[in-house]
Amino acid sequence: MRDPVTHFVGGKPWTQGAARQGPLYDPTTGENSAMVDFASAADVAAIVEVASAASASWKNASLAKRTTIMFAFRQLLHERRDELAAVVSAEHGKVHSDALGEVQRALEVVEFACGIPSAMKGGFSENVSTDVDSYSIRQPLGVVAVISPFNFPAMVPLWFVPIAIACGNTVVLKPSEKDPSASVMLAAWFAEAGLPDGVFNVVHGDKEAVDALLTNPTVKAVSFVGSTPIARYVYETGTAHGKRVQALGGAKNHMVVLPDADLDLAADAAVNAGFGSAGERCMAISMVVAVDPIGDQLVAKIAERVREIKLGKDMGPLVTEAHRDKVSSYIDAGVQSGAALVVDGRSEQAREGFWLGPTLFDHVTPQMSIYTDEIFGPVLGVTRVAGYDQALELVNSTPYGNGTAIFTNDGGAARRYQHEVEVGMVGVNVPIPVPMAYYSFGGWKSSLFGDTHAHGAEGVHFFTRGKVVTSRWLDPSHGGINLGFPTHT
Ligand code: NAD
Repeated sequence: MRDPVTHFVGGKPWTQGAARQGPLYDPTTGENSAMVDFASAADVAAIVEVASAASASWKNASLAKRTTIMFAFRQLLHERRDELAAVVSAEHGKVHSDALGEVQRALEVVEFACGIPSAMKGGFSENVSTDVDSYSIRQPLGVVAVISPFNFPAMVPLWFVPIAIACGNTVVLKPSEKDPSASVMLAAWFAEAGLPDGVFNVVHGDKEAVDALLTNPTVKAVSFVGSTPIARYVYETGTAHGKRVQALGGAKNHMVVLPDADLDLAADAAVNAGFGSAGERCMAISMVVAVDPIGDQLVAKIAERVREIKLGKDMGPLVTEAHRDKVSSYIDAGVQSGAALVVDGRSEQAREGFWLGPTLFDHVTPQMSIYTDEIFGPVLGVTRVAGYDQALELVNSTPYGNGTAIFTNDGGAARRYQHEVEVGMVGVNVPIPVPMAYYSFGGWKSSLFGDTHAHGAEGVHFFTRGKVVTSRWLDPSHGGINLGFPTHT
């Protein structure tokens, strides 16, 4: 076993140990590869204090200093992307090429944060009244917390951490206890890039650590990503304790295929978006909506491609045994509820490790649990509808609203869909429409609690608060008593 993974606090690894630990696994073999320390509520309080102490000087660090550090970190991340991807793969199980893609998308947020002087610029209006000027500035919040899920152990923390830091905040990150090592590596690299001690801290743990962050009065904002029930809980608890909260939740993303679409390209896209990262992506496509009359043809093309997927090369195992078993039980439930099982991945469970083969269902209906629930595994369903209106109604009636895609060559239909669909991120012939770092990432409905999306302008807004200054330089002509409400002259 490797050494235990511990917290990273005040620029160095924590030395105070932990009363509780959790296991880490190599999902490809199922071996217990290491243990991770779990913080107690008292540990979290101490770590928040470290972040708070660092905040006093970091909030006043010049933009030049902040960007110099961010550029240096960007360089380290770029040079060491293979190393980080290897750590992600070892604990998460995703294949190396996929982990490298995750690191690339994370790097783009760091690059966005390098431009923070432009992103934080305020406005200035001269002579709003005679000799009076007004200007707006944005200032950091203080200590902010980031709580992240297992499925993107590098990218999701980096959706928030670089922007929070560049805006002048100090950060306590609580990564997933299933794959925590990437976070520690990132914190060590930030320190190497010149970030002062205590500006970026990592605390490991479970509900006890999360609750300690959500109720700590020094923590001013919480960025959370995870499943919908926990996102709702984090939003309600955090806001009840006076914090600004953005809590991104789960998803059930539909890909609508209209009859005029190129079915080969649509089948490629459905398979890539359904089975990449073994379906453990919040932007994975889990339902294909085939608009009559192309259903049979499309299913045949998807099935042909699914059978070609090579385990270990194209697709890794699932993250834990419990999660693999849960996903597998959905396949049992799908069969029992009468869906047509076109490709069955369950035979791969016989291997050592947390494997499950890619699985395809046809004739899925909205009453089935494989339709209603976020399975978060390599299980793709196809449902059939008579026309565009029925497809739209189906997508809009799901409780989630993270991502969706439409495949068509009809520009008018695509435009109508992007206008009418109640989903936060829409792809037109793009199956996984994850916005670039300079746009903002977030879903609608039960896929997001709070009204601020991640990164881009909304990320900068989330991690800062606004102030407007109205100023004049007095001279004797400004004297005199006037109790009236100030108006412009
Ligand atoms: P999860 O909700 O189980 O865990 C997320 C975080 O919450 C972890 O840090 C975990 O330690 C903590 N947590 C878990 N249970 C808790 C509890 N009872 N009280 C307090 N904290 C708790 O999610 P996961 O399984 O790690 O990740 C997968 C989920 O995340 C999927 O639902 C996926 O759709 C979602 N996700 C959403 C997005 C998005 O942008 N909307 C992105 C990635 C993942």
